[in-house]
Amino acid sequence: MNVLVINCGSSSLKYQLIDSESEEVLAKGLCERIGINASAIIHEPAGGEKVKTEVDMPDHTAAVRIVIEKLTDESVGVIASLKEIGAVGHRVVHGGEKFSEATLITPEVIKEVESCNDLAPLHNPANLVGIRSCMEIMPGVPMVGVFDTAFHQTMPKKAYLYGIPYEYYEKYKIRRYGFHGTSHDYVSSRAAEILGKDRKDLKIIVCHLGNGASISAVDGGVCIDTSMGLTPLEGLIMGTRSGDIDPAIISFLADKEGITADDVVSILNKKSGVLGLSNGLSSDFRDLATASEDGNEQATTALHTYAYRVAKYIGAYTAAMGGVDIIAFTAGVGENNAAAREEIAGYLEYLGTSVDLEKNKIRGEEIILSKPEDKVTVMVVPTNEELAIARETVRLVQ
Ligand code: AMP
Repeated sequence: MNVLVINCGSSSLKYQLIDSESEEVLAKGLCERIGINASAIIHEPAGGEKVKTEVDMPDHTAAVRIVIEKLTDESVGVIASLKEIGAVGHRVVHGGEKFSEATLITPEVIKEVESCNDLAPLHNPANLVGIRSCMEIMPGVPMVGVFDTAFHQTMPKKAYLYGIPYEYYEKYKIRRYGFHGTSHDYVSSRAAEILGKDRKDLKIIVCHLGNGASISAVDGGVCIDTSMGLTPLEGLIMGTRSGDIDPAIISFLADKEGITADDVVSILNKKSGVLGLSNGLSSDFRDLATASEDGNEQATTALHTYAYRVAKYIGAYTAAMGGVDIIAFTAGVGENNAAAREEIAGYLEYLGTSVDLEKNKIRGEEIILSKPEDKVTVMVVPTNEELAIARETVRLVQ
């Protein structure tokens, strides 16, 4: 069955058409600037060239229509007609406490996702627009929602509650939810598979280090803790997000700068992280590495602060699980950035592990970095959220 995987943002739509039997990506692409001027689709059929076409996309329904046009196009298409799409898998950011796994989309499910909009006001409404647009253009094709939060729903109360009055959890569901769940699930399963072991018998720490970054503790196949919280702002230092800070900083800074709490939160989301630490130099680790090599001290500080936070979380999650068998790196930085991995691993020798510096030079591939005799296996497992969404979609549809 061909599965169309859709990841819808407020003005963008990413897609992949995946053959679920061979797990091959038949085509992928991105619609950008939807509802804005100069909207365009970048479409790439397997084995073909990436082609950008400027095309008017006033809304997401128009974007889905263009995606279908490209997929069925005579020259750049990969299927003859819409009938060759067996199901659609949608990435949905927030499933609140309602969704602990992927689900077939029905009108009731849409209502329930809508009720989580409060918790992800930037993402969930956009995800729903994508779902509705696909339903309009592909009536009768089964749709599945795969939630970023679902994998973390197994966290025990002691891990997901904040130390604030309990009534706020009861009234507003303020708690830690966690994100990147599809990636944490996929990478922890794949890590176990690579070692020829059952995930149920392992304690795994997954470091999803991308522009957004989160870390999770997967014990016996289930998530018992993760670093992102009510929103994706908590936890690790990220590209532009602060991660953990003293919450009192918000009112302190609002007062000092004469701005609102919302303004401060926006700074914490968009101008902080390694971007902020490097004095606004860059949120991209490649730029920071180059600047650091050129002697830029702020860039060096940003990279050290980033690695230190990851190492602290690894220590915390080792304690939470009473040990660790695998530490897996994934996402843009985790898969590609040897310097970040080396620096983080430098903190982990006490666990009885090491990183082979030659192997660590390899980028974007599944590789074991530690020695066979090490107590803890350190490895790189490239994430594949689209494939994980396609697999979940097929599981539910069949
Ligand atoms: P993601 O959000 O997973 O796409 O990760 C994006 C981040 O990965 C970028 O901000 C880069 O800092 C980092 N990244 C991607 N490729 C490389 C690379 N070759 N070397 C170092 N960092 C990289």
